[in-house]
Amino acid sequence: MAEKLVFLGMGGTIAGTASSAGDNVGYTAAQVGVQALLASVPGLQAILGDREAAAEQVCQIDSKDLAHADWQALRSRVLHYLAMPEMAGVVVTHGTDTLEETAYFLSRTVPAELLARKPVVLTCAMRPASSLTPDGPGNMADAAAVALCSGARGVLVVCAGKVHSAAHVQKVHPYRTDAFDSGEAGPVGLVEEGRVRLLSDWPGEDASGHHFDLAALPIQAWPRVELLFSHAGATGSVVRALLAQAGAEAPLRGIVVAGTGNGTIHKSMEAALLEAQALGVRVLRVSRCAYGQVVGGSPSHRSGAFAAAGLSGVKARIALMLEIAAQT
Ligand code: ASP
Repeated sequence: MAEKLVFLGMGGTIAGTASSAGDNVGYTAAQVGVQALLASVPGLQAILGDREAAAEQVCQIDSKDLAHADWQALRSRVLHYLAMPEMAGVVVTHGTDTLEETAYFLSRTVPAELLARKPVVLTCAMRPASSLTPDGPGNMADAAAVALCSGARGVLVVCAGKVHSAAHVQKVHPYRTDAFDSGEAGPVGLVEEGRVRLLSDWPGEDASGHHFDLAALPIQAWPRVELLFSHAGATGSVVRALLAQAGAEAPLRGIVVAGTGNGTIHKSMEAALLEAQALGVRVLRVSRCAYGQVVGGSPSHRSGAFAAAGLSGVKARIALMLEIAAQT
């Protein structure tokens, strides 16, 4: 049986269209099907060699509107394809806005033994498919090259010739085609003329922390975890408003605070967070700084809130949701 590579479509700008080819901002995301996107990839067959391409549309959505259920739908299709012996890997076309969240979610919930053998490569575009100079087709070609690269493993993000790990990748620019960065860790590698040049090891099992067996988690109703920022003039009012929402659609189970500097929190907000903790709400601190991570893992702050090692706020929120779900 011929080896295969599957492309799963999630929507995003890569599948977007505008009324004019010169318009790279006034477009509607998630319009073009993944099969049509595949047809636009230059030299795809040369990259695939003897392998066959398969495609499936999982969602067709602007990723800013992604719901937790969309992650679950994607994860179940990823598991389906990774389990096929003839499948070399999975490429996912996705919007850039929440790409790092989906990548991190998959890295924590797809079984490590599958990711150790086959990669899941997410890719995207900053310009719509209708653009005079679209970046999506090149990114898809690079993603295919990475997915078929010998030894590739883990959940990866490919954009603008760079390969990032799910643990470190972050969208850092709202317009540039090179919109992603891996901070101090740097990219895992580069794609140059279809060839992958590794700069560090492929992400290993521990890159994102231990894996959650979603099949065993009662995750149909995700635990509600909110993400807040501490800032000059912060008060406890948002935290108290969240606590006061008796009978809300889902009870508040956790709060991630993107704190100032080394994960510090305004004293007024911290007082309200202590009240939240006393009511059983889990509080996690991260730094709102673009680089580095909270130093000192002990609950040394007045709130006693633990710091999430090296995670951005949006990823810490996913980690805390999974952790709370696992304990439920
Ligand atoms: N709003 C779009 C999305 O995330 C942005 C993009 O893909 O670049 O789906």
